[in-house]
Amino acid sequence: MSFEALGLHATIVKAVNEAGYTVPTPVQEQAVPAAIEGRDLLVSSQTGSGKTAAFMLPALHKLVSAEPAAAPAQDASRPRGERVRFSAAKPKMLVLTPTRELALQVTTATEKYGSYMRRIRAVSILGGMPYPKQMQLLSKNPEILVATPGRLIDHMDSGKIDFSELEILVLDEADRMLDMGFIEDIEKIVAATPASRQTMLFSATLDGVVGTMARRITKNPMTIQI
Ligand code: AMP
Repeated sequence: MSFEALGLHATIVKAVNEAGYTVPTPVQEQAVPAAIEGRDLLVSSQTGSGKTAAFMLPALHKLVSAEPAAAPAQDASRPRGERVRFSAAKPKMLVLTPTRELALQVTTATEKYGSYMRRIRAVSILGGMPYPKQMQLLSKNPEILVATPGRLIDHMDSGKIDFSELEILVLDEADRMLDMGFIEDIEKIVAATPASRQTMLFSATLDGVVGTMARRITKNPMTIQI
């Protein structure tokens, strides 16, 4: 099995091959084609299984396939004297992670897998990062946000992020996010996204509280146990 055979766009296959991957891992082999089709996914897999690429490769494929021929004009000229208004970022994809470290790893992996794509930007929104820096990142209206839940809520509450155009939601290490007490934040974030979104949830276990939440926020999901 090759990455090409999974149905991925040539620019993604090229980037992945350059990263040194020649054969998809078992979770990638199952998740990628289903995610490209638009299925919601519930995946029980461990760190080291290649789970980041399992959600990011099909997501990049969908985003690149939907790229407009030309970027929409931004910052149209304003009458003199009018204040520059910050317009909220409208990401197409959101990845929630339990920790800053994991968010940074996901962002780095996204840059690697998307290195041949124009206009697909990923930024991390993390607790502990200075607000002016994050405002500057959000002002570029990135397509992909990778965030820890608490800090994301702060930006949502102050109107910096608008999820009305969100297409793909990923919960990475969902069981750890629940263990860390993020359930209310997650519920609030999910409620702010369109019901039409595609949802992919990754967790070491799909039992108990995480399983209940997983089923509530997905539609007719495909379950993958690795
Ligand atoms: P993850 O489970 O996403 O944390 O990935 C674990 C490690 O496996 C990372 O260092 C990836 O770069 C690497 N990796 C992911 N997919 C593949 C693949 N198909 N072939 C070889 N290495 C991979």
